[in-house]
Amino acid sequence: MKYGKILVYMVTLGVCILTACGSEGTKSVMTHKSSQVAMGTMVSQVYYGTDAQDMENRAACVAGFLDDLEKQGISWRESESEIARINENAGKGRVEVTEAMSSYLETAFEVSARSGGAFDITIGDVVQLWDLDAVAAGEKDFAMPTREELTERLQGSGYEKVALGDGYISLPEGMRLDMGAIGKGIACDEIYALCNDGEYATITGGIVSVGGSIVAMGQKPDGTPYRVSIVHPRKEGSIGVVTMKDGEFLSTSGDYERYAMYEGERYHHILDPKTGYPAKSGLCSVTVVSDSGLLSDALSTACFVLGEEMGMRLAQEYGAKILMVREDESFVMNAGMEEIFAVQ
Ligand code: ADP
Ligand code: MG
Repeated sequence: MKYGKILVYMVTLGVCILTACGSEGTKSVMTHKSSQVAMGTMVSQVYYGTDAQDMENRAACVAGFLDDLEKQGISWRESESEIARINENAGKGRVEVTEAMSSYLETAFEVSARSGGAFDITIGDVVQLWDLDAVAAGEKDFAMPTREELTERLQGSGYEKVALGDGYISLPEGMRLDMGAIGKGIACDEIYALCNDGEYATITGGIVSVGGSIVAMGQKPDGTPYRVSIVHPRKEGSIGVVTMKDGEFLSTSGDYERYAMYEGERYHHILDPKTGYPAKSGLCSVTVVSDSGLLSDALSTACFVLGEEMGMRLAQEYGAKILMVREDESFVMNAGMEEIFAVQ
């Protein structure tokens, strides 16, 4: 499997603690860097602080939290997860949902409505039919679904058919939710909350990436903003650098990581819920920065499906910063992104 949609210049092997200099009489600021696989992707954590043990504890606590989020919360593959339970009960009436899940779903369905259905987590059955994540990971061969199969599975989907009420949800029969497009963004929101819980107060800053989603926290020791390289979707290297500060979240969605080539065509994992086929909107990568991990992640997927014109408008409506790379490798961004993006 290929990891690392975004390069955050992190150490990728094991855990290493580096000591940086501090001025006399003050405690020196250290850097903690570690990485592991969690939620089916590469997670990299960097923290700055004056106590190495606190940073190690924080990193372990975040890693444990991500496992729990996946296994108990948002992965339909995990039989004990809340999403699996919701899916199992499709067509059987109301299912209780936790407050956290209820809030994730509410935001997801709002993005669905505002994107005219370009973003829709109810297409789980269609996602499973293509199973492009497993194909891209080399776990199975690519199989082209028939138009009839796609039409049948699409009939069971549609965010407007979901009843989400006070503490409950009810799905129509055959519907399956898939949180793939927002899971990593949700993880970043929760990591930010966790890191601001008052524990380990010796930690003064950090940046964590969960696959293509990134959260920036606190301050870097030298006071400069965090710098994140955006990978070029068609060749080695990056297209430029985005600077981020405390409380900002970045997500990239693209057609270049999880895809299969079949008869000269690229079949990638971002689907157009109107057709059931991989979205063909003239874009190959979309990066969104906002003050919410879930929204950045949802919008990067939604805007990819919508294409340049409508995607720009949606990002603007949400007050998000957006960068789009077109299939001809040229790129376009809004004014907010212009302030934080620089070509390298
Ligand atoms: P990544 O997982 O690489 O970060 P995305 O955030 O764009 O990429 O999410 C893609 C995943 O979201 C797919 O693997 C699938 O599970 C799901 N998905 C695909 N198309 C859509 C869509 N139009 N709306 C909501 N979810 C989608
Ligand atoms: Mg997404």
